[in-house]
Amino acid sequence: MKKLVFVTGGVCSSLGKGIAASSIGALMESRGFTVRMVKIDPYLNVDAGTMSPYQHGEVYVTNDGAETDLDLGNYGRFTSCPLSRANSITTGQVYKNVIEKERAGDFLGRTVQVIPHITDEIKRRILAVAESPDTDITIVEIGGTVGDMESVPFLEAARQLIHEFGRANALSVHVTLVPAVSGGEIKTKPTQHAVKELQEIGIQPDALVLRSKDPLEEGIRRKISSFTNVEFEGVISGYDCQTIYEVPLVYFQQKLDAFLLKKMNVESRHADLAAWRQVVEKVKHPAARVRIGVVGKYMELHDAYKSVWEALGHGGIANNAGVEIVKIDSGHLEAPDADLDGIFAAIDGILVPGGFGERGIEGMVIAARYARERKIPYFGICLGMQIMVIEYARDVLGWADAHSTEFVKTSAHPVVSLLEEQIDVKAYGGTMRLGASESVTAPDTAIRRAYGAERIVERHRHRYEVANAVRADLQKAGLVIAATTPDGSLVEACEWPGHPWALGVQFHPEFTSRPTKANPIFKAFIAECVEAAKRKSAKK
Ligand code: GLN
Repeated sequence: MKKLVFVTGGVCSSLGKGIAASSIGALMESRGFTVRMVKIDPYLNVDAGTMSPYQHGEVYVTNDGAETDLDLGNYGRFTSCPLSRANSITTGQVYKNVIEKERAGDFLGRTVQVIPHITDEIKRRILAVAESPDTDITIVEIGGTVGDMESVPFLEAARQLIHEFGRANALSVHVTLVPAVSGGEIKTKPTQHAVKELQEIGIQPDALVLRSKDPLEEGIRRKISSFTNVEFEGVISGYDCQTIYEVPLVYFQQKLDAFLLKKMNVESRHADLAAWRQVVEKVKHPAARVRIGVVGKYMELHDAYKSVWEALGHGGIANNAGVEIVKIDSGHLEAPDADLDGIFAAIDGILVPGGFGERGIEGMVIAARYARERKIPYFGICLGMQIMVIEYARDVLGWADAHSTEFVKTSAHPVVSLLEEQIDVKAYGGTMRLGASESVTAPDTAIRRAYGAERIVERHRHRYEVANAVRADLQKAGLVIAATTPDGSLVEACEWPGHPWALGVQFHPEFTSRPTKANPIFKAFIAECVEAAKRKSAKK
């Protein structure tokens, strides 16, 4: 069985197409079908790796080291689809490939054009996933809004595939907005126009997911059905939920998955949604509450640390605790009169996430020192681990100028630095240590206890490493090297001695966390914060 489902968006951006696509994937998986996910991004960047988090949110990293759009993170949280370079298609990749072929003479004198050469390349990439072994249903999310110039070739490729596969083998799901104007009146016109726009391209949607604040009444859905030629059963009210993990259940209740299977002439199977129901139940009715202070530099933009927020929530679900996130701009901690006791008073744990560039670094060092001295649970991710090492070298080893060469090149104590062989690399795209690799954890460490395993695999995205020249000094001063690469050549994790729970990891555990199975470090960190919160309230 090889079925395609295209998910597009109309009216405006940020409607949650990614969540819609992921939720359909989750439902199909809950019925025992093998699902594959593809994200199409109509921008010219070859990948998301060179984009600022301010521009495009988090860069999600796959096992094979692709730097992709954050929607792939949602696919990873909602489905068990293996994610790699193949699951992320950008305009940049498509054109690069076609132009390289042209330069190599592969088109033999022909004129190279958007149709058919670009569209053929897009189709080839989609089919490479859809025709991979054992795949039942491939869900292809086309980024941007229908009507944008940029997405035209992708929509044309989708139209052709629907035509070639036949309507029973390739479906279109369109996500639109149904707003309420002042007075609360619900407006269907934007959706009517959005569907018309898709029809003009030659795609008749099979189903519509109508985004709105509150559930839409049947009358509204019937009206939209009659104006858009979409069967009533395929017009779904995708209203706002308390948690994104409730969205699959909302679609299930309205039988969207059963409708899509019927359209594809596929016999339905029993849906097992117990795990999703449990996730939603735990998010809505936690037994405890913790507050996590996240000290970073891209705090204004929620999407910049998307997977970190989600993974903290998963840690909460695993511990039956509600996680409240307090975003602390590290720059604010740097002011000479910053009231640290006030800022951290209600905080049960501190997390310093990944990041690039010098701004805000000193504030992170201040947060790490506060956590170390006050014995507050501390979790450092990538940059957050490097900060732990810098702080320790400065305060415990007494190297006041200890730094990372990413920020200060001239320090007499470069405790975090590039490897020799990296020093002359000038290119930016794809020149980091990227993707999944193995680490070996040391006995009697928080990381070993968290995973319960000596060998673990997590994903990396960084350039700098703990400097091996100072590793022995750091260890002599008490810093625990809690994990290394299997050959021992690189530090993968460190911990503070004599502290209840402090763990810094060079990799990004947030990328492998799922609501139904929290990453072990997030689970352990939140468990520790729950304990810290209990201790704190016992003291009061
Ligand atoms: N900027 C640091 C490095 O490149 C940390 C990267 C990160 O936190 N992802 O090593």
